[in-house]
Amino acid sequence: RSFESMKFPQPILECLKKKGIEKPSPIQIQGIPTVLSGRDMIGIAFTGSGKTLVFTLPIVMFCIEQEKRLPFVKKEGPYGLIICPSRELAKQTCENITMFGDVMAAAGFPQIRSVLCIGGMPVKEQMDIINRGCHVMVATPGRLMDMLDKKMVTLDVCRYLCMDEADRMIDMGFEEDVRTIFSYFKGQRQTLLFSATMPKKIQNFARSALVKPVTVNV
Ligand code: AMP
Repeated sequence: RSFESMKFPQPILECLKKKGIEKPSPIQIQGIPTVLSGRDMIGIAFTGSGKTLVFTLPIVMFCIEQEKRLPFVKKEGPYGLIICPSRELAKQTCENITMFGDVMAAAGFPQIRSVLCIGGMPVKEQMDIINRGCHVMVATPGRLMDMLDKKMVTLDVCRYLCMDEADRMIDMGFEEDVRTIFSYFKGQRQTLLFSATMPKKIQNFARSALVKPVTVNV
């Protein structure tokens, strides 16, 4: 398998090559086609496996397709949400999405905008980006809960949800927050859950949040 065979557009393929990413890793070989197919997915993978690209590449493609069909309306809220247990992980994930969004925009595709919603950063900056319209939100649970609670952001049109490092998230005591965040979704969504380990607690959580998920374990 190759990234070419996954039918990513040329700007993405070139960007991956430039980053020294030539051949998909096992989680990418199995995971990316699953995510692109629209199925819910549980990915059992450690940091370093290349798991991030399994959800960032499809989300960028999803938003570009969405943008082509139906231009984004400001204040509608994001189409895709990624929840991370730590600020650092959220920051890196958001940078990854911005990078792919920018190379696609430079090649003439619609510009995908992303926003980082984490604690320790001014809410105002985050709100300015949201109010200008953003396709993807990458957030830590605390800050996002706060913004949802205050109705600063809605998930009404959000159709793509990814929970990264779910085991760490639950260990850190975020389960209730995450469940509350899930309750803000309306309509159908595709849900992805990534975790390095799969204890009973995560299995139960996944059973309640995902629909007929494909499990990818590498
Ligand atoms: P992750 O497991 O997603 O945190 O990725 C860990 C690191 O591996 C990141 O710095 C990626 O840029 C890099 N990486 C991801 N996929 C590949 C790949 N297929 N080949 C080489 N490096 C990769």
